[in-house]
Amino acid sequence: MTAEKTTGLVIRLADFSESSRVVTLFTRDFGKISAIAKGAKRLKGPFETALDLLAESHLVFLRKSSGGLDILTECQLMARFRPPAGNLNCLYGGYYVAELLAGLTEEYDPHPVLYDEAVTTLRRLTMEPDFRWPVLRFEVVTLREIGLLPDFQACLACGLTVGDHTNLIFWMSQGGLLCPNCRQPEEASHPIHGATLSLLDQLAAEQPPPVPTNPIPSKILSELRHLLTAGICQPLQRRPKMLGFLPF
Ligand SMILES: [Zn+2]
Repeated sequence: MTAEKTTGLVIRLADFSESSRVVTLFTRDFGKISAIAKGAKRLKGPFETALDLLAESHLVFLRKSSGGLDILTECQLMARFRPPAGNLNCLYGGYYVAELLAGLTEEYDPHPVLYDEAVTTLRRLTMEPDFRWPVLRFEVVTLREIGLLPDFQACLACGLTVGDHTNLIFWMSQGGLLCPNCRQPEEASHPIHGATLSLLDQLAAEQPPPVPTNPIPSKILSELRHLLTAGICQPLQRRPKMLGFLPF
């Protein structure tokens, strides 16, 4: 067994025995790991609050060579996730971040950019009045980082560039766009406006877009929600549980 050091976010906790827990962490250098935290259930245990859900810590763990669970040996708290009192959207937004990281990443498949984005998202959720922008940004970056952000630049069938076309069609089963010429009427599809695609482009950029100062039309928001929900449900093979708690 090798001792590894990194930083990580707690994304899932389960009881293992009377005194121990199994902790799933999304780490910056190793991606998702599952480790036993011995003594974690004792009141004055070795890990104290460092194992709260979504806490970020410096970690040392012993990496199992074959299969089994890793063993968490040190966990030094850097930051806790602390939603303002009564702010359920912030709390559920944080749980949603944990659910996406747990469901859409693989063990030992590191994504440092996604890790940094998750930390930023949790901080933004506790500071910004509208939970939607940090959450939308996180969803788009997650899909981009795991290589599943659909191509919203061109028609899937003929390659026509989207440009200023406003009546393109989102084709759910293929996770991309079809132009009006290529769309078959019998296929399940959903209309998408140019303004939705340009918002999506901004959300996918390396630098997060500024929080909109004017309200985004609800039609655009609901199209964006539809695209992202479809994009996430496909690899997850179910609807994320926490999404139902977020009032988009
Ligand atoms: Zn086409």
